[in-house]
Amino acid sequence: MALNLIMLGSPGAGKGTQAKRLARGRRIPRVSTGDILREAADAGTEVGRRVQVVMDRGELVSDDVMTAIVRERLNEPDARGGFVLDGFPRTVAQAQALDGILDGRDALIIVYIEVPERELVRRLGTRLMCAKCGTNADGFAAVAKAAVGGKGQADPERCGLCGGSLVQRADDRDAVVLERLKVYHRETEPLVEHYRSRATFRRVDGAQPPDQVARDLAVAVDAAHSVATSASGGVRR
Ligand code: AMP
Repeated sequence: MALNLIMLGSPGAGKGTQAKRLARGRRIPRVSTGDILREAADAGTEVGRRVQVVMDRGELVSDDVMTAIVRERLNEPDARGGFVLDGFPRTVAQAQALDGILDGRDALIIVYIEVPERELVRRLGTRLMCAKCGTNADGFAAVAKAAVGGKGQADPERCGLCGGSLVQRADDRDAVVLERLKVYHRETEPLVEHYRSRATFRRVDGAQPPDQVARDLAVAVDAAHSVATSASGGVRR
């Protein structure tokens, strides 16, 4: 049975990091709508330029555009055997569209990574990303540690994976962070209630160290997957 998984959680909750680990471990593609949009923006196409403006303001790209992007991606052959969707759905309308896209496919598993607001603001304000491979780095904390001779990353200005330079995401600047959190509470948080009653919904404590979150996530996903498997045919969405 395919593992069709979505990750809910605020910006900064660790969805991207955990989605990458999970997708690698389960050998299924991670589909990040943020990455797809950033690629379009970097390509400098007309659509890309419009998307860039929306992202730089911390606002959401329209449901129609996002749904079309996700429909196309999830219908590619590699995603037919399962996927980890990161960053979609972000509105109830997108969640309803996703049910339509997945009609007739295996049940959707929903994991919600919950992190308290104070911790989110701290994480987002100090987050650094590799300009080359997109991996999140340890952030300014690592730079500061290295500067005082502590154990930061080997080279605090370079990505530990590919050596690319570390930069702050344009939408991680203070004012934009606050806007993104506001948009999250207004548009995306209602999804938790939207999905909570499904048998395949699981919540994970995202305030823990990343390795512990990964372990809890693996347990939650396996539990939801076995519920979906034993009820298959019954709870198909
Ligand atoms: P992310 O990398 O998931 O934090 O996404 C970065 C930005 O891309 C968001 O702040 C939005 O502007 C845009 N974006 C990503 N996914 C969606 C989505 N599902 N709906 C609308 N906008 C999105």
